[in-house]
Amino acid sequence: MSDEKVKDPVCGMTIEKSSADGPAEYQGRQYYFCSPGCLKKFEQEPEKYATSEQEGAS
Ligand SMILES: [Zn+2]
Repeated sequence: MSDEKVKDPVCGMTIEKSSADGPAEYQGRQYYFCSPGCLKKFEQEPEKYATSEQEGAS
């Protein structure tokens, strides 16, 4: 019962932390990903994804 859900900031998928890729740490926070591809994208442009929690972006 400890399958904590986390959100992949790159594609927006909700995933289980225990089976996620990562974590990648950015500005003191840890981020988890659905795939190595999303992890790689995040590492290339962390500022783009880490701040995309607000709605309304194109
Ligand atoms: Zn993803």
